[in-house]
Amino acid sequence: MWTLILNCGSSSVKVALLSPGDGRVALSGLAERLGSEGAALRLDVQGERRVLALGTGSYAEAFAALLGELDALGLRADVRAVGHRVVHGGEAFSAPALITPEVLDAIRACSALAPLHNPANVAGIEAARAAFPGLPQVAVFDTAFHQTMPEVAYRYAVPDAWYRQHAVRRYGFHGTSHAYVAQEAAAMLERPLAELNVVTAHLGNGCSVCAVQGGRSVDTSMGLTPLEGLVMGTRSGDVDPGLHDFIARQAGLSLDQVTAALNRESGLAGLSGVSNDLRELEAAAGRGHAGARLALDVFVYRLAKGVASMAAALGRVDALVFTGGIGENSVPVRAATLARLGVLNAGVDDAANARAVRGTPGVISAPGRLLALVVNTNEELMIARETARTLGA
Ligand code: ADP
Repeated sequence: MWTLILNCGSSSVKVALLSPGDGRVALSGLAERLGSEGAALRLDVQGERRVLALGTGSYAEAFAALLGELDALGLRADVRAVGHRVVHGGEAFSAPALITPEVLDAIRACSALAPLHNPANVAGIEAARAAFPGLPQVAVFDTAFHQTMPEVAYRYAVPDAWYRQHAVRRYGFHGTSHAYVAQEAAAMLERPLAELNVVTAHLGNGCSVCAVQGGRSVDTSMGLTPLEGLVMGTRSGDVDPGLHDFIARQAGLSLDQVTAALNRESGLAGLSGVSNDLRELEAAAGRGHAGARLALDVFVYRLAKGVASMAAALGRVDALVFTGGIGENSVPVRAATLARLGVLNAGVDDAANARAVRGTPGVISAPGRLLALVVNTNEELMIARETARTLGA
């Protein structure tokens, strides 16, 4: 029994075929450069790599190639459902949803909130429904987990009409990952999730922290868009809202140019002038590059402030969880972040921290200090589980 997980972007589709029960992965891959020359579906079938050229590179061609591969592997008959990662569910979705024409319309209606992502998600869902006509399809939303945030956490102090008429509020993202790692942390600690207050830090190219109380999100650092909050690879995170107007006038930029710069030329990349990739920054800082050092310091400083603000939302913190490419691998970022969180009685165990790399989870805090853990996120598995749960399997 396999579930096909699809994450459809404007020019790419991430695919994974996995078993929701035990997490086994039959294949994973990426269709990329869709819509342009050189479109291809790259698959990893249990360690064996295959590259399939895609004609004009439409979603339909990518899915046809995938079906051919499923047939060749004799897996097609055992695929029971398709789970789609959908970025924005607005206030319409607080849980995954079986995709019906009405649900598809509601996802389309959230497009203004995620103009780069939701239209691609919708196009991918439509193509998948055509390619896999017999299979139930489920949408799993990045925002849904955060719909439990109280109004004090999700409202901005802006004119009320902006919320009523334009849905301006904080939504939060990375919900699938925050929910998954909170569950995993509870399992690792052998404590009921319902009794735990955890701060989860998802640190990848995008970064966010979340306050999880008894398995429910009560606050998170991303807001209306994924630009709010922490410093990220190329995203600024929080800036003064007055910055847009100021820099547009000073530098003669349009609103679109300012928005693009804050999303794509800021964060670690913008501050360092070196790279958005944390590994490269750690290497450059090691060689004495001042910009790289500064970028790392600002990243950690803002992360620590973000964790502390989630602690304020929770009142009591039982554990801090690091995940994502940076959270699962960067020993220095974790150590420096814990060093800045004396206010929460945080303290690192250096040997345990050094061991928790390359997919090895574990507790990294010193005895008697705030529990700090490294947990490997697995959004595909969580989407597969949510898909199965939605279908009542
Ligand atoms: P995405 O958000 O795109 O899924 P990832 O979760 O893979 O991204 O995280 C990417 C980030 O993780 C990059 O900044 C990368 O440098 C960082 N990273 C990956 N491996 C390591 C490592 N061994 N040490 C430090 N940082 C790492």
